[in-house]
Amino acid sequence: MIDDPLVKTLLTNVVEDESNLPIVEALNDGLDTDEAISEKTGIKLNIVRKFLYKLYDMGLASYKRSKDPETQWFTYSWKFEKEEVINRIKKDSEQYLKMLNDELEREENNMFFVCPQGHVRLDFDDASDYEFLCPVCMEELEFQDNAETIKQIKEDLKMVESNFDSFNKKNK
Ligand SMILES: [Zn+2]
Repeated sequence: MIDDPLVKTLLTNVVEDESNLPIVEALNDGLDTDEAISEKTGIKLNIVRKFLYKLYDMGLASYKRSKDPETQWFTYSWKFEKEEVINRIKKDSEQYLKMLNDELEREENNMFFVCPQGHVRLDFDDASDYEFLCPVCMEELEFQDNAETIKQIKEDLKMVESNFDSFNKKNK
């Protein structure tokens, strides 16, 4: 599951560095205490704990606390919340796709004008409000061909859609 590019990206963001991903892999494999995970992965106990709590804060892991009847110490038994990871990726991907589609629509349905000094980028209506002069430096705005921008957004959309499709097929 963690090999999926979307899952990997999400979890790498949580654990801050790819080298800490084995913590999540060990948890996903059913290791349920911080000590066992630390031992298996060779990652320091305090680092393991830090990211277990971070996963917990994000709702991507949960724990049960129990008291050892002999030592009276508490032990924590951790669990990876796969369903939450899946839900989160679905939600994030849908939001991202919507954002890209909105952006594409805006680029395709507008003309853009830019300040040669890079101060502003305005659509036709805003640019004509300023009489096609930069509101910062008063230089004349230049028409900007946005074909490259449109091409880039379409490529991004294609990639996000393809990653999301393959994710959905694996996680119905
Ligand atoms: Zn300017």
